[in-house]
Amino acid sequence: MSIVESLEESAKANNYKGIDKVWLEIGPFSGVEVRALEFSFDVAIRGSIAEGAELEIIETQAGAWCFSCDEAVVIEQRYDPCPKCGGHQLTVTGGEELKIKQISIKE
Ligand SMILES: [Zn+2]
Repeated sequence: MSIVESLEESAKANNYKGIDKVWLEIGPFSGVEVRALEFSFDVAIRGSIAEGAELEIIETQAGAWCFSCDEAVVIEQRYDPCPKCGGHQLTVTGGEELKIKQISIKE
């Protein structure tokens, strides 16, 4: 699991003793099931620098830019029409995140 790998890498680079807590940002279009991720995180951190770390998931909102309205809108699904004008002139601007937002280091 690449998240745990990047935790280990930054831990090594910065000489962390351990990791207390991890905040993960997940967008609705990231293709990640939050519950499945929580479960696999617990398994993946066993024996790693992040063993015992708490996981907090921040679910981000999906956003898009509507060229017809010329403004940012919020969408539920990737191919949803614009909620304001019903048009499809949208480009997705957020919601694909799957990244470590913050970590808390053991003293
Ligand atoms: Zn629109």
